[in-house]
Amino acid sequence: DNTYSSVGVPAEGGAADGDIAVKPVVAVVGRPNVGKSSLVNRIIGRREAVVEDVPGVTRDRVAYDASWQDREFTLVDTGGWETSVSGLAAMVARQAEYAAQTADVILFVVDATVGITDADAAVTRVLRATRRPVVLAANKVDGELQEADALVLWNLGVGEPYPISALHGRGTGDLLDAVREALPAAGSAEAADSEEGGPRRVALVGRPNVGKSSLLNRVAGEERVVVDSVAGTTRDAVDELIDLGGRTWKFIDTAGIRRKFRNLQGADYYATVRTSSALERAEVAVVLMDVSAPLAEQDIRVVEQVVESGRALVLAFNKWDTLDEERRYYLEKEIDRQLARVSWAPRVNISAKTGRHMDRLVPAIETGLESWDTRISTGRLNTWLKELVAATPPPVRGGRQPKILFATQASARPPHFILFTTGFLEDNYRRFIERRLREDFGFEGSPIKLSMRIRE
Ligand code: GDP
Repeated sequence: DNTYSSVGVPAEGGAADGDIAVKPVVAVVGRPNVGKSSLVNRIIGRREAVVEDVPGVTRDRVAYDASWQDREFTLVDTGGWETSVSGLAAMVARQAEYAAQTADVILFVVDATVGITDADAAVTRVLRATRRPVVLAANKVDGELQEADALVLWNLGVGEPYPISALHGRGTGDLLDAVREALPAAGSAEAADSEEGGPRRVALVGRPNVGKSSLLNRVAGEERVVVDSVAGTTRDAVDELIDLGGRTWKFIDTAGIRRKFRNLQGADYYATVRTSSALERAEVAVVLMDVSAPLAEQDIRVVEQVVESGRALVLAFNKWDTLDEERRYYLEKEIDRQLARVSWAPRVNISAKTGRHMDRLVPAIETGLESWDTRISTGRLNTWLKELVAATPPPVRGGRQPKILFATQASARPPHFILFTTGFLEDNYRRFIERRLREDFGFEGSPIKLSMRIRE
């Protein structure tokens, strides 16, 4: 029953959005003052709220990371959506509508001490029409005496009211059990990485003759080199463990670097295949380029291959020892023109021959990996997003203004963000969001993926 349309942004030539596992969304709806925020705080253990409890910040929050009994979900507080609609009942109904569009489960909060109001009834009508599972929380049942108040809420016709006290925590366990029960079956988790935990994996890539084997020999140098044969991968692939900058790295498919195929027929094709299989197993790629010659289309293609693979990227300009003033001038122009799309990648200017700037290679790789691993909490992400969208709303399209309801980071390696929207966001606007993500959170050396989920 997944009617989201998922749109991957081919940002920077990146691959389209595959089948990634997005955590289920639980939206908390209800009229003002029923205790939605207290319940949200109770569910997330107030941790996030306390940590970032800056005046004016917490109040604007819309989405958080939450879990119950090992089940993770995104918890969305709908208060604050569409405040421009006049009339309480209409406003609340509209929020419920948005919630129903984006949520897998709706957590409907009613104040048991007040009973059913017009606004509660308006929400109920909307929720019934959506056919999303609804879990009804009868809040402010602080003691046994108030339990009877909750029973009246059966009259809403959305099922069993769970008596709770968001403030004191009473009954919230049973409520969360019901929410958990209503969640869609757990999808496949993030692709498990079989090689996780070992040395970090580096692919040294680049067109023939740029100096890959020279660089490999230079970094392997006097250091301990352990050859590690790889089962079940490209035939003859050999990885080497190399100590560099105080830690051990696994250089992927060094056999493919050391062995030359230059004069073979189809060598280009073979090199491309070899590169992609190395990228598949690597976490970060160092793309080596030769500055003694103009950047070639083949260099750019390798860079694009890396971006498409979603691996962290470091640009290494080799043979820097050959550079004179004139060539340097043109090189800068070539970089500006041809590598503008990966302006986020760290650059190192090296010479495998002389050893120039070898000490800068590892910090650049580490920067890329750090960005690649980055996770931004849902709470922090949405505080940021809310401010961004308030300052620069998405452009109107076909007479409608798409709304971004909230966002989550679905995965890291590389960071992948999902925007939950009520309409299509133009490419330009998504690129704008990506640019701002980079400005505010860094991500130097890592591609970023941005997708939309539009419930239609
Ligand atoms: P690969 O095909 O990418 O592995 O490239 P190689 O390592 O075989 O290098 C190709 C050629 O470039 C060889 O003649 C190397 O000696 C030369 N070379 C590699 N690195 C440098 C460098 O930093 N400076 C100079 N001047 N030549 C280099």
